[in-house]
Amino acid sequence: MSQPSNEPSFRESVDLMFNRAVRLMDLRPGLEEKIRVCNATYTVRFGVRLRGEIKTFTGYRSVHSEHMEPVKGGIRFSLGVNQDEVEALAALMTYKCALVEAPFGGSKGGLCVDPREYEEHEMEMITRRFAYELIKRDLINPAQNVPAPDMGTGEREMAWIADQYKRMHTTDINGAACVTGKPINAGGIQGRTEATGRGVQYALRAFFRDDEGVKKANMKGTLDGKRVIVQGLGNVGYHAAKFLSEEDGAPVVCVIEYNGAIWNDDGIDIEELKQYITEHGTPEGFSGGQFFEHGENLLERECDILIPAALEGVINLSNANRIKAKLIIEAANGPVTAGADEILRDKKTVIIPDMYANAGGVTVSYFEWVKNLSHIRFGRMQRRQEESRHQLIVDELERISRDTSINWTLSPDFKEKYLKGAGEMELVRSGLDDTMRLAYDSMAQVWHGREDVTDLRTAAYLTAIGKVAASYHAKGL
Ligand code: GLU
Repeated sequence: MSQPSNEPSFRESVDLMFNRAVRLMDLRPGLEEKIRVCNATYTVRFGVRLRGEIKTFTGYRSVHSEHMEPVKGGIRFSLGVNQDEVEALAALMTYKCALVEAPFGGSKGGLCVDPREYEEHEMEMITRRFAYELIKRDLINPAQNVPAPDMGTGEREMAWIADQYKRMHTTDINGAACVTGKPINAGGIQGRTEATGRGVQYALRAFFRDDEGVKKANMKGTLDGKRVIVQGLGNVGYHAAKFLSEEDGAPVVCVIEYNGAIWNDDGIDIEELKQYITEHGTPEGFSGGQFFEHGENLLERECDILIPAALEGVINLSNANRIKAKLIIEAANGPVTAGADEILRDKKTVIIPDMYANAGGVTVSYFEWVKNLSHIRFGRMQRRQEESRHQLIVDELERISRDTSINWTLSPDFKEKYLKGAGEMELVRSGLDDTMRLAYDSMAQVWHGREDVTDLRTAAYLTAIGKVAASYHAKGL
């Protein structure tokens, strides 16, 4: 979906939303400007010999705010990458990390490349070369700048980057912490791949626990039975759709991809659809629903929850008026433009903003970074000790029941669940759930507590900017 040209750029859109929020704050003179601007953006052009010729690639790493270091944010591989986009995304990372209390400044990187055009070994050469350029300038470094996956990148690229760093810093004992989102066997953490989608699920659960918020969205009840439209079945959209439909009873009635959409009133089997798309490259021909060639129009259909999980700017001045969802949760970064945001606010559509909605990724990245620095997997010390203490209680209860001939037994299901100590996956999910709940509560307090704040995005900005300002204050700025 193309964005109308009368709209501001992505970075301007983020700035407009920022400005709207700071007008309601009492920041010291000049601090507003200091927080808003991007500190630095590094542009690199490098050549790689491929298929008998030298191809030149352009990449960026933008550092928005260094109020805390390292700075953090993904690296995106896409032909649409440009400086404006990378800077907007870096700014969002600053606010996102502040909101969920991940102790990082904000950064983002991007490389103009279509990964589908290259073989695996070619992508490895391109990624390593880009990483080399960033590593030698400390724009990848465990203490200074820690990238992660984003659109077009995943575990594989992160493993190459980590390895490249280790080749260039052979004695850095904390080298694995130079990048997150790595595969488990290269220092990754359980639950990182699903983290952003899982975070969307936890964010929605937090929203539906907030009666006042649910009322503001003109909705009732819980997530159970809410009809969902998802745009984009990439890593984030796929996991969010899968968890919501399989675990929360929220049927996903529509999945929109760039090359067509599927609609099924009874709910789509997400696992089957994902497999079909992986095999055929398109949703066309999938038997579990009706196919539509022009998927973007389906964004405007009746539903309870709309989850844009693909590109920025997909809900803009050209379609915002026709959006019928009561609740939009921004799984992607920047899917709603500043202009569309205003229209939707007037329509009383509730938007759970990107900086909160998709913060699950960086939250689990934070856990991975801590794991790498502590050189031990979460749960390794406590798990069996926890299990043996639980076993003690179960044995004692069973003894009492036998000795006093009280006729009861523990159900096998309870016993199995209670006796199992928490491994890394359980601890990561618990930490993510806690983070999403606390961050939601801090936003909701502002949303419901201040008369001049009528939407969650402004509440999120106020909360995040307040934390960044406090951190500058502590440094004497
Ligand atoms: N690329 C993800 C984001 O936009 C993750 C960033 C990270 O884990 O550092 O939030």
